Amino acid sequence: MNKIKTILIVDDEQGYRDLLHRALSEQGYTVLVAAGGPEALDILKRDEVDIIITDMKMPKMDGLDVVIASRQLRPDIPIILMTGYAVEERVQEALARKASICLQKPFQMKELETALQSFLIT
Ligand SMILES: [Mg+2]
Repeated sequence: MNKIKTILIVDDEQGYRDLLHRALSEQGYTVLVAAGGPEALDILKRDEVDIIITDMKMPKMDGLDVVIASRQLRPDIPIILMTGYAVEERVQEALARKASICLQKPFQMKELETALQSFLIT
């Protein structure tokens, strides 16, 4: 049986936050949302989070910054990247830092679910 886990969504676009929040909540996950890196780090310090799904292109802190800062707090936490028009070099560096999977926006929910299953069902 799939244990319910907590997912932190980080995206500067409210539409994506709402979409993912709704879809993942319906699947039984506990979902926390952050509109940017600083907010995401506050949540990571405060709450139990099992996996991070972060947008790459965001103001102030981009996805790579989120990966770097999150790893300082939680070295082993899995991170899924979502990219739209992100700078390719930033994406590659984030992947090099073990952000495990990169989903190209717009993606099918099934793709995200497959990515999650690879981490959550063990
Ligand atoms: Mg964005």
